Amino acid sequence: MRAVRLNRLPPYLFVEIDRRKRAAREAGRDIIDFGVGDPDQPTPAFIVNAMKEAVHEARHHRYAPGVGYPEFREAAARFFQRRFGVELDPTKEVISVIGSKEALGHLPLAVVNPNDVALIPQPGYPVYESATLFAGGVPFAMPLRERNGWLPAFEEIPQDVLRRAKLMFLNYPNNPTSATATMDFLEKAVWVARSHEILIVHDAAYAEVYFEKPPPSILQVEGASDVSVEFHSLSKTFNMTGWRIGFAVGHADVLAALAAVKSNVDSGVFGAIQQAGTVALNRYDRPEISAQRELYLRRRDVLVAGLREAGWHAIAPRATFFVWVACPGGVDSMAVCSRLLEEADIVAVPGIGFGEHGEGFVRFALTVDEMRIREACTRIARLEWAPLPR
Ligand SMILES: *Cc1c(COP(=O)(O)O)cnc(C)c1O
Repeated sequence: MRAVRLNRLPPYLFVEIDRRKRAAREAGRDIIDFGVGDPDQPTPAFIVNAMKEAVHEARHHRYAPGVGYPEFREAAARFFQRRFGVELDPTKEVISVIGSKEALGHLPLAVVNPNDVALIPQPGYPVYESATLFAGGVPFAMPLRERNGWLPAFEEIPQDVLRRAKLMFLNYPNNPTSATATMDFLEKAVWVARSHEILIVHDAAYAEVYFEKPPPSILQVEGASDVSVEFHSLSKTFNMTGWRIGFAVGHADVLAALAAVKSNVDSGVFGAIQQAGTVALNRYDRPEISAQRELYLRRRDVLVAGLREAGWHAIAPRATFFVWVACPGGVDSMAVCSRLLEEADIVAVPGIGFGEHGEGFVRFALTVDEMRIREACTRIARLEWAPLPR
């Protein structure tokens, strides 16, 4: 019954990890789960309260405009102005999306013709590749390497691939490597895109999860909106993953094309969620939001220190809630994660799950309580890894 196109998809590794985790839990084991990139804290009360009011309004019980209510789009534009100093026209350069995953999943249908190449960072979020395949495009992996600060080396991309490329996905702050991009890099990316008529799709889902200076938007690069769109999400910023709301900004014609696809498959974000999302964006500088960053920071420091004590080469991330760490003892990432699960009841994600260039690393999500992180570090310290040369 299944369509052939599904056979081309890479295996969605997280389903398999989930299965093994559930089996371990059912066996009564005390699992500490660093696997999922889903905030463990609730949505701040001021947003939940805005939702409570909004849900009573009958106007929200009907279809909302597919591209979003003007109030939500204006709030997103205002947020952009305050946070990045970038002016956007809320009627053309901002649309609502049902989470950035939805937008990433649909965007290739709006811009990719059969056999167009999409440049995809690897290791990376699996949706870039599957969405490209759904649209009949050809994914081309841009390896991210530690020695390049986990940024793609554009000069390595063959000229004929650049000629055929229609799209380039970028994601900073990055999942899974937690790397951030400098303005210099984003300027270079825009220059490459302009020279080769490529559309940059920048996934900025972690733009507000940072521990040092706030990460930039690609739209801060002069003229970037001629060659790029950027996806923002309320999911990680406001602990709203279950709500399904985000927004896309940038190139007006591309957003219109995305809206045309979406109008045929969805009918927009529930109006009450947009109203609560408007309140969230208007007050993104509230103390709850910075407190959330501080919580991840404390967890980060506990985990990084614990891993180091256990002999791992852990480096503290500047942004995102991920710690991306080299496998100890030169063991492959799947073997490391299997041992963590079988011998320490700990779930982490093997880098290979993000593509072959993710091999050699594992990802820990900081969505675990501090005391539990300490417990996990104690367990990890008991494991011994064969000291193979790396
Ligand atoms: C979590 C995540 C998303 C999806 O966010 P939603 O807005 O909840 O769909 C997109 N990109 C990356 C890299 C993520 O980690």
